[in-house]
Amino acid sequence: MTITKHHVCELCEAGCGFLVDVEGRSVTAVRGNDADVFSRGFTCPKGLAALALDRDADRLRTPVRRDALGNFQPVTWDQAFSEAAERILAVQRKHGRDSVASYMGTPVVHKHGALLMRGALLGALRTKNSTSAGSQDTSPRFVTSYFMYGSTMSNPVPDVDRTQYFLCIGGNPLVSNGSVLTAPNMRARLQAIRQRGGRVVVVDPRRTETARAASEHVAVLPGQDAALLLAMAHVVVESGRVDHRFIAAHTRGWEDVRRRLSAWSPERAERQSGVAAAVIRRLAEEFAEAPSSVAYTRLGVCNSESGTVATFAADLLNVVAGRLGAPGGAVFPKPAVDVPGLARMVGADGFARWKSRVRGLPETAGDVPASVLAEEMETPGQGQVRALITYAGNPVLTTPNGKRLAAALPKLDVMVSVDLYVNETTRHASFILPPCGPFSEDHVDVFFANFAPRPVLRWLEPAVPRAADEREDWEILLELAYRLGGGPTGIRPVDFAFRQARRFGFHFTPATLVDFAIRTGPYGDRFLPGSKGLNGDKARRCPDGIDLGPSDHGIAHRIFHRDGRVDLAPSRLIEALDELERAAPPARRPGELLLIGRRDIRSNNSWMHNLPKLVAGRDRCTLHVHPEDAAREGLRDGGVAILESRIHVGRVPVEVTDEVRPGVVSLPHGFGHGAVAAWQRVASAQPGVSANDWTDDQLVENVVGQSILNGVPVRVRAADAEAPRSVEQTAGE
Ligand code: SF4
Repeated sequence: MTITKHHVCELCEAGCGFLVDVEGRSVTAVRGNDADVFSRGFTCPKGLAALALDRDADRLRTPVRRDALGNFQPVTWDQAFSEAAERILAVQRKHGRDSVASYMGTPVVHKHGALLMRGALLGALRTKNSTSAGSQDTSPRFVTSYFMYGSTMSNPVPDVDRTQYFLCIGGNPLVSNGSVLTAPNMRARLQAIRQRGGRVVVVDPRRTETARAASEHVAVLPGQDAALLLAMAHVVVESGRVDHRFIAAHTRGWEDVRRRLSAWSPERAERQSGVAAAVIRRLAEEFAEAPSSVAYTRLGVCNSESGTVATFAADLLNVVAGRLGAPGGAVFPKPAVDVPGLARMVGADGFARWKSRVRGLPETAGDVPASVLAEEMETPGQGQVRALITYAGNPVLTTPNGKRLAAALPKLDVMVSVDLYVNETTRHASFILPPCGPFSEDHVDVFFANFAPRPVLRWLEPAVPRAADEREDWEILLELAYRLGGGPTGIRPVDFAFRQARRFGFHFTPATLVDFAIRTGPYGDRFLPGSKGLNGDKARRCPDGIDLGPSDHGIAHRIFHRDGRVDLAPSRLIEALDELERAAPPARRPGELLLIGRRDIRSNNSWMHNLPKLVAGRDRCTLHVHPEDAAREGLRDGGVAILESRIHVGRVPVEVTDEVRPGVVSLPHGFGHGAVAAWQRVASAQPGVSANDWTDDQLVENVVGQSILNGVPVRVRAADAEAPRSVEQTAGE
């Protein structure tokens, strides 16, 4: 008998609602849920491939341990937990707490249980060497929020469903389906802006999928968005369109920043950004005159050399034009769970409270930049990293200079990975602990509801029960925490009490914590009988979701500075602005090109390449080269190029296209699966190359220390005449 159940796709930030057909203990079909109040039936190819992911024969089903020959052998959960914890504790006893590092992949924020139990694991480890995928792509956004609004989790998001002018800089929401902008089916939402007479303007060195669907594409030079945005704010000021009423009532530091904006004329920004002054001036006027407008920066900006200043500049533009907190502008959502409050509670809200040992790069929201991992493992001394725990991540393919990290991992004393697959990183692990499949987990909207211009609350039970010998992600993280002497809260005496209680049969679940957070949150019932407020049970009874309405809450609930004002001139950001003002316009050496990344809708960073439907068709791991650059370097479409950066030289297939602007080449990240043939048969059959063999772990943005992955200097030349392997070389090899 087939039963239809509700579920939510947790593969990306969009969180689309599913209906799944279940026969016995198996899911047999997946489709979008038309009644879901959030996604209204939308799904993307990745979401529909969740069924193939669930069934993938290459996915790990039981814990494994590496033997002396380097092969993975099955072990029981108890063996895996005991031995892994014993070895981690031994390293910490001998070398100190910071000798164990952790790396959390993006799913840690997709799954509410994993998010909450991340704190449990880190509370048990108490290491300063915690890092994550977020430290690779979002720290400039978090730090700008920290300085301007007082919390890393206080992030303004574009009110896409009500705006008349969407200025999207360095984002590709048609492919990502929104990032720090949780709103599924971005294609329909952007179309709707144009249909109601509004404009969508995309600023990007590449004519992305979003740019193709936009009213206008502005091909900026990689890494130079800050100049363009500052000049736009300058024009708004010069033309007398500043919202002085908002600035006087809600901000401080205006005079300091106004003075600095005066330095950014469109003519100056043209020299820096490669965008004509007349275009900058026109964009600024359109932005200020539109009935509503919003500037939104995303990954392409965060990953560039001026990531934090550019994010700051976009927020300044929203403020000067009176768009912060305004309908159709940059709004602060009010979800059912108070995410900034939660972040503070678990110590994940802050900046530069400590720095990495070797290079002195600052932490953001509890994580040091991921690019420090290899050097922290290689450099002797107190605090040298000798053990690593990874959760749902593949930093060998997703962090810069991945080959350096791959060389450092086998030298660790112990490595423990929580992962569905043996991948390019986990193949070095001593133990791999695989969580259950995607349909056996419950789901509550927690983290990403904080980025939804119109948040919802959904609480869905697992579509199928997990088998007795399977574990959910959070159970694995919590059990590791217990075995390392911690517990669910990360607070020592409380965790001691939890450890005692479980000896008598009490078992903690994140559901208790989430229910408490909802009941004490902005819409909660406060535990009052008869209250109309929300609680976990009410959420469970509405599997299509509870719509919490548009973000018409103003800004007061998301300003955490004591005076309740937005800080327009935080000293560290002003310092960075001054540094940018003093810097000379970018100069390139003859023959030098700038490498940027790109993403495909069927790709989910480095994983899901083992699912045939998602990798079918033409090779997507190609180097995009503009026809002018191709002609100059003698490259042909379908040929092979030698791509050379400071750290690596290797061969790449070429695709000649005017999608990239002249002087820019583009390579997707997340490929390079040649080393996992034994464990991922589909992915390794079309391995591609890893873009992060060329990106440089020593190239970092100057405020938060995040890796510069867009705008990496490279050279290309035709490879056809050269011997196939003679050119592969990595610095230090
Ligand atoms: S956009 Fe695709 S991958 Fe993302 S949640 Fe929706 S179905 Fe899943």
